[in-house]
Amino acid sequence: MTIPPRDDLALMEGYHSPQVDVAVRLNTNEAPEPPPSGFTEALAAEVAALDWHRYPDRSYTALREAIAAHHGVAPEQVFAANGSNEVLQTLCLAYGGTGRAVAVFEPTYALHSHIARVTGTAVAVGERTEDHALDLAEVRRVLAEADPAITFLCSPNNPTGMLEDEATVREVLDLVPGLLVVDEAYGQFAPWSALELVDDDRPLVVTRTYSKTWSMAAARLGYLIGPSPLVAQLDQIVLPYHLDSVKQAAGRLALGFDEAMRTRVASLVEERGRVVARLSDLPVTVWPSAANFVLFRPEGRDGEAVWRSLLDRSVLVRDCSSWPRLDGCLRVTIGTPAEDDAFLAALEEALA
Ligand code: PMP
Repeated sequence: MTIPPRDDLALMEGYHSPQVDVAVRLNTNEAPEPPPSGFTEALAAEVAALDWHRYPDRSYTALREAIAAHHGVAPEQVFAANGSNEVLQTLCLAYGGTGRAVAVFEPTYALHSHIARVTGTAVAVGERTEDHALDLAEVRRVLAEADPAITFLCSPNNPTGMLEDEATVREVLDLVPGLLVVDEAYGQFAPWSALELVDDDRPLVVTRTYSKTWSMAAARLGYLIGPSPLVAQLDQIVLPYHLDSVKQAAGRLALGFDEAMRTRVASLVEERGRVVARLSDLPVTVWPSAANFVLFRPEGRDGEAVWRSLLDRSVLVRDCSSWPRLDGCLRVTIGTPAEDDAFLAALEEALA
């Protein structure tokens, strides 16, 4: 097959995160445990009773209402899709495209610029400070130069784990010429959320995912909370029946396990503190994290070599060592205490 892709896609790199078979997998920020057993049973009962020969509820009414109730917003302020990546893609399809730009501040989640480019949208890149913090003077510069239709923030930021506080998000919101998207894929692990700023009169959306907190990465489900007129526009451009009936049921049922999930998030936050404390005793630089992962850089060692030594010990973390602005850095997902101990032991050996 030799049909070339669009010229502007030909030189693009895809998104790679190796899926290798290892004992301890801490590279993609998933939840370390499957959903509670009551969830799988309830879902199995609903799946058995599905009208398989009918298209799903196109407006995913029950899921939408459940998400809205969970966040205390109106169902008209909820838009869901197949993973928050598809939510981001739908935003780019609606507000990006030829002649338009998005703004990102690197280092940040690689898919923001990748998805923008795939949708034919130009990407204006701003720099963060040396310690990965947002630089408001740089934000002003980029927004003034590029006039972006969409400005992306990621909070807590992937892969650094850093949280944007309320004052910063409010300032950026005042500056953006278009829409501000705050990607909160890891929002539950953080002490503050931009969700409280969402209002029908503000050009702000907050995206969330079921892939992390809700232990449902396999299902591919994410959503945004935003102004209802924007949600109505997204409803018009997304493919008909894009959310299948099984996923709609899974997403609705999961929210019934809110208490159990809050407990799990609290344990992961505590575990994150333990891992950071142990890392601080090793010859590595550690960045403060408000997410379920931690970015660190082995000092005086080649990052990729350390990554390989961990892999040799059947521990897989994310190798960011060759990424721009993240020279020598690795990112580890917080797992179960046993998984984290295996990682810490392997790292001690790798650094010895
Ligand atoms: N945003 C961020 C910041 C992420 O890290 C991820 C997952 N890697 C996503 C969005 C995509 O999540 P989903 O599984 O919902 O597509």
